[in-house]
Amino acid sequence: MKSVTAGALPGLRIAVLTLALLVPGGVRAASDGAPPFEPHQRLDVASPAHAQDVALTLDACGGAYDQALIATLLRLRVPATLFVTKRWLDRHPAAVRELRAHPELFELENHGSQHVPAVIGRRLYGMQGAPDGAGVEREITGGAQAVLQASGRRPDWYRGAGAAYDRASLQIVAQLGYRVAGFSLNADQGATLGAAAVARRLRQAKPGEIVIAHMNRPASGTASGLAAALPDLLGRGLTFVRLSQAAGVLPARDGKQTP
Ligand SMILES: [Zn+2]
Repeated sequence: MKSVTAGALPGLRIAVLTLALLVPGGVRAASDGAPPFEPHQRLDVASPAHAQDVALTLDACGGAYDQALIATLLRLRVPATLFVTKRWLDRHPAAVRELRAHPELFELENHGSQHVPAVIGRRLYGMQGAPDGAGVEREITGGAQAVLQASGRRPDWYRGAGAAYDRASLQIVAQLGYRVAGFSLNADQGATLGAAAVARRLRQAKPGEIVIAHMNRPASGTASGLAAALPDLLGRGLTFVRLSQAAGVLPARDGKQTP
């Protein structure tokens, strides 16, 4: 949100200014005053073949590599969709090699270039958002190029830092040809929860759930929580799929599906 005082018109303060920006690439972006929107989505589980599908999505924002978490997924043969930033990819070439050695389990998707939120001119969870539409576009395309370079595959999905967006940024994501990846179950609250809390949340997963957690904070409770709860979910007959394997991804019916 931009707020300006119109000096040429004394006494007139324009508190809400709708900005229309023409950014490079021809993407037209408009900033409005609405709060950032957090898309909630679920998998399509209507067909019998996909009735037990659940997706585990793991973000690597920056920071470290949670090797114990990945080892658990390898041991349990649980596939996951990994949202990685360029920043994280650049720092962890050995981790990228390990993940690429298991294409049957892991798929890399785009979490942006420098983990800058797709909220123009405002803050999100303490992070400064992109300054303008061009900044949003740089974040998306920079991340996409890094994923392509690291995995040999163009990403289909984009999940911005903080997983919330303003309306203009959602338009930019769509116009660049990507889909916004939401979620339905927040398992680790930004890797801030202890193992017991992560496991408790994860055990609530139902068919169609898209779980979000983090794979960049080994000191958090995320890996231990997943290790504790994943066998229970598998025992209940839930089938983990990558987003590309899902029958479809639908807006969740919790009132947060439309911007
Ligand atoms: Zn992140």
